[in-house]
Amino acid sequence: MFDNLSSKLDKAFHILKGHGKITEVNVAETMKEVRRALLDADVNFKIAKDFTTRVKDKAIGQNVLTTLQPGQLLVKLVKDELTELMGGDAAGMNLSGHPTVILMSGLQGSGKTTFSGKLANFLKTKKGKKPLLVACDVYRPAAINQLHVVGDSIGVEVYSEPENKNPVSIAENAIRHAKSNGFNVVIVDTAGRLAVDEEMMTEIANVHQAIKPQETLFVVDSMTGQDAVNTAKAFNDRLDFDGVILTKLDGDTRGGAALSIKSVVNKPIKFVGTGEKMDAIDVFYPSRMADRILG
Ligand code: GDP
Repeated sequence: MFDNLSSKLDKAFHILKGHGKITEVNVAETMKEVRRALLDADVNFKIAKDFTTRVKDKAIGQNVLTTLQPGQLLVKLVKDELTELMGGDAAGMNLSGHPTVILMSGLQGSGKTTFSGKLANFLKTKKGKKPLLVACDVYRPAAINQLHVVGDSIGVEVYSEPENKNPVSIAENAIRHAKSNGFNVVIVDTAGRLAVDEEMMTEIANVHQAIKPQETLFVVDSMTGQDAVNTAKAFNDRLDFDGVILTKLDGDTRGGAALSIKSVVNKPIKFVGTGEKMDAIDVFYPSRMADRILG
């Protein structure tokens, strides 16, 4: 996970090693390498440039050149700035509502269905909830089957109406079913497309308006880097979601989406997916991720 970024940042800080005292030139060189590492990680130019400018300003403000261990202080400043870039504090979930309604959105293949299962499993096993999964993809029967397979594997009921082609009514019926059967969380898996299109956005906006979810989550494949960020922006312009789910982090050696999404859409990353299995889900803690990146 983010191996390239970690090793490039490590190299950037090597410039400072072996210097008892560091100079302004050393700091500038290090920051240039940090910026290059961020660009290689597929962070956009402006974010990378602003990042290193902020670190440089703080380094000057904290008199980094005259401190006892200037290299260590600079690493700390970069770590703090990485944490901020990824959202600062962990975001948490709004689990109010009777039941709590969670709407999943995202492109086809992003990992939405898999994540819906992981989230149901997480809420069941870690939070003691009784979740209901809802199949609202009315275009692909295979997607409904896939959710049933996922539900079976974690012992969570799946609500579907294969003959009903109206996702709004399926979602509403599912919530009624949840209320009368003691489910306290309803996770609605919606249809994705290969690219953002008007029909998909209208459909999900209609479902959103009808069921008024406590949490609307946008699921995106972290391996797609800047594309992930652009798709997040396109969804956010129409849907005003509450949080981002970054999937397939286990295969992401670069990290650009994790680093950029918060500052582009101003929505927190709430969870990450780290594998295909149902327990490959982690709450996203920006500071832990920053620690991990800097090794
Ligand atoms: P959907 O079309 O958005 O519902 O996407 P799926 O849930 O069907 O996932 C697409 C593919 O990505 C499947 O092969 C999943 O097993 C895989 N996948 C989903 N999440 C992860 C993850 O966190 N890591 C890895 N390695 N694969 C994942």
